[in-house]
Amino acid sequence: MLQLSFQPVLLELRHPFRLATGMRTHTNIVLTEIRSDNHTGFGEAAMPPYYGENHDTATAFLSLARDVLRQYDRPFPIEEIMARIDALAPGNHAAKASVDIALHDLWGKLEDKPVWQLYGVDPAGMPPTSFTLGMDTPEVMRQKMEESAGFQVIKIKLGSDDDRAIIRAIREVSDKPVYADANQGWTDREKTLDLLHWLKEQNVLLVEQPAPKNDLATAAWLSERSPLPVIADESFQRLADLGDVAAAFHGVNIKLMKCTGLSEGFRALREARKRGLKIMVGCMTETSCGILAAAALAPLCDFADIDGCWLIRNNPFEMPVLTDGKIQLMDKPGLGLKKLGPYS
Ligand code: MG
Repeated sequence: MLQLSFQPVLLELRHPFRLATGMRTHTNIVLTEIRSDNHTGFGEAAMPPYYGENHDTATAFLSLARDVLRQYDRPFPIEEIMARIDALAPGNHAAKASVDIALHDLWGKLEDKPVWQLYGVDPAGMPPTSFTLGMDTPEVMRQKMEESAGFQVIKIKLGSDDDRAIIRAIREVSDKPVYADANQGWTDREKTLDLLHWLKEQNVLLVEQPAPKNDLATAAWLSERSPLPVIADESFQRLADLGDVAAAFHGVNIKLMKCTGLSEGFRALREARKRGLKIMVGCMTETSCGILAAAALAPLCDFADIDGCWLIRNNPFEMPVLTDGKIQLMDKPGLGLKKLGPYS
């Protein structure tokens, strides 16, 4: 019988996020383990505050999930198990993902195959992953530039009145290509369009979520005119949202923590491709567990923004290997994780 255990953990951010409301120094996560025979699958729920999940909601949900998993001896068919997990309660997307990821890791270990191979993924298609560079004091910025040295692409958070100044400041220290994320911050269509043309001249390669998530009309207006690909992030959570966003954006940002894990993520990916959409794979601040799960599907995507475990201090797993700015998919069973010690 499949045995689920889980532990709430606080992930310590390497650099606190500065917000209008104060500083964010940690991300709530829950680490899951699913055991079958002598094998253990690792999973993770990463829960930034804006999606409404936390240690209490995840603990309550995973207690329900534990009873479902007990009814199975093996982690498959995953689609069937995850359909039952999904039906337990609405929401809880990250908690559901923590079950799905652990099932995949366990499945790979039982088959002695990497998760990417279970999905027929070719590691040669791995795109470089961007490294998120939040603005900070000059001293901290220098430190962040050192931390980003191994990455080929930088991701910058925009969406304020200082956007041009932020890009100019970045351009003083780096000429790497940039993914820009407005996080719903731009509301004036014409101004945004001007800015997008200027950003293109600054070697910005794409823009994420320019307008508020429910304003698909503005997204569509911009996508029709934008010189840069416009990617839905907050507007796109799960597979079921794809119909609405497909007409308004050039692409979608698929995150396992939004779409309940690899099972649905893979289906969303195929469906997005059928609709001619570009695909970005993203993450939260996460351990190597969530990151390597996302990396398993990343070669099927156009853009990768899966740097979460480089942004934290207390990763309980060995770091992924980064070569030429790309995460290496290893020939190891499951997700290829090595746990370094007890979770704390
Ligand atoms: Mg985003």
